[in-house]
Amino acid sequence: ASLRNQIAAGEVVERPSSVVKELVENSIDAGSTQVDVAVERGGQGFISVKDNGRGVAAEELKLAVTRHATSKISNVEDLTAITSFGFRGEALPSIASVSRFKMSSCRKGADEGWFIHVEGGDVIDEGPAAIPGGTSVEVRDLFFNVPARLKFLKTESTEARRCNQVMFKIALANVDAGFTFTSNGREQFRLPAGQSLPERLSVFWPRNICESLLEFSHEAGEMKVHGCAGIPGLAQGRGDRIVMFVNGRPVQDKLLLSAIRGAYKGRLISREYPQAVLFLELPPELVDVNVHPAKMEVRFQEESAVFSIIRNGIGQALSRYEL
Ligand code: ADP
Ligand code: MG
Repeated sequence: ASLRNQIAAGEVVERPSSVVKELVENSIDAGSTQVDVAVERGGQGFISVKDNGRGVAAEELKLAVTRHATSKISNVEDLTAITSFGFRGEALPSIASVSRFKMSSCRKGADEGWFIHVEGGDVIDEGPAAIPGGTSVEVRDLFFNVPARLKFLKTESTEARRCNQVMFKIALANVDAGFTFTSNGREQFRLPAGQSLPERLSVFWPRNICESLLEFSHEAGEMKVHGCAGIPGLAQGRGDRIVMFVNGRPVQDKLLLSAIRGAYKGRLISREYPQAVLFLELPPELVDVNVHPAKMEVRFQEESAVFSIIRNGIGQALSRYEL
């Protein structure tokens, strides 16, 4: 049971990038093939997420954004309440309770769309909206009613970079969808739908590394790993670039990290570092997802099996290349 609660507690409105993450994940959940994100002033001033997904019916829109918005967030103590809002189905109400929030949506095939405008959890206005199929969410003045929260934010450029990072990871885990990300009116990246993982990475990682990535895929029992890894001797970088996902969610985890490093052991030339994107898929009951505000931490039921599948999966791919 604690496992479920910990997963649930993950939806934390901690900073602009948490809002971007929740909104973009909703877009993906809605089957979108294109998601366009824009932020102003690191997301604190403005966040916009537009998608072409299945949309929300007019009569469901209000419910989706106000369900838990009854309690007002007005002081630091209440911040714990925002954290505890973080159960499935509470991201939108949580965001709408700490911002000026506008959501417009039109279900595919519906005659017209609908919008709702919420400020600090209060519904200000709603009505018909001219919007093509899909959903558009605009979040202005994040934490305007939680001044204490604003003090925890870093500089605008740091917050913008975190939004960029969140988008980068979601984009890697969803190569079938297209994404754009704009910050202060300047397009940061444009990723067409259907790119391969190395193609997508090439927007973010140095070219020499992306040109020497080996794709790998390996199964053992109920577990599966896939991704791509830098080829020893070719993929030189100043440090390691390692991005890891468990069941499609970005994680930071020492066990996975040491397994990746284990696969590279004895293969790297001097001043070379592992470069890898790893997707681990396993039955949900074999993993505990424990949430820290800034990163996703996981605990595995069968640590040695997880370690082996990763080290072997990547290690075998690397040794095939060596032959
Ligand atoms: P959850 O994603 O856990 O269900 P949220 O608060 O994030 O909770 O969203 C509430 C509901 O609003 C979703 O279950 C979904 O029905 C609807 N919704 C939110 N965003 C979108 C979107 N971009 N497209 C379609 N439906 C959406
Ligand atoms: Mg959600």
